[in-house]
Amino acid sequence: MPDGLPDPGKIWNDFITNPLVQTAGTLIVVYVVLLWLGTAYWAFRDMQARSENPILPYFASALIIFFTPLLFLFAVVLYLIVRPRESLAEVYERSLAEESLLAEVEKNELCPVCRDRVHADWLVCPNCRTRLHRVCPSCSRLADPEWPLCAYCGHEFQRPAARPVERVMERSAPARTAERSADLGAEPGLRPASNP
Ligand SMILES: [Zn+2]
Ligand SMILES: [Zn+2]
Repeated sequence: MPDGLPDPGKIWNDFITNPLVQTAGTLIVVYVVLLWLGTAYWAFRDMQARSENPILPYFASALIIFFTPLLFLFAVVLYLIVRPRESLAEVYERSLAEESLLAEVEKNELCPVCRDRVHADWLVCPNCRTRLHRVCPSCSRLADPEWPLCAYCGHEFQRPAARPVERVMERSAPARTAERSADLGAEPGLRPASNP
């Protein structure tokens, strides 16, 4: 090798024995190891937020640990692919939204007798004259005809309002009456205006 050219091996040797370079190298290694362990902890917490299973978070962090500080990024990609799509909070939020949608639908109730569509705040069914609600004389709110007292203000009703079943009896529809009273007999708390 000609004298004029510097020896590449010597340059490299000088470079890696430089204390500054060695310190930087150590810091990088420490940083990568911390990143690796931190990612394992992140996977643990992330799986905790996505699954109620107590074991799965350990599996998630073990996956990251298993791939070593050099390759753990591949484990992160793998984890992102296989983890549950929704977090538990998102699932809860979605079920709340579905419930409120359902409640919205249930507002459009059916008349228990003639199955005609009635509104939740109607007093009687305009089609078959079945009593759906009564007005509380104390607070003027709508009460279920079967309630012995007002749910809003506690006012005791003198006597229960005519039940839809009795109305049907008056109107002499024997088959439907039997079916309806069986329903009400099985569930005394059943609201007359709700779907059986
Ligand atoms: Zn009706
Ligand atoms: Zn009342």
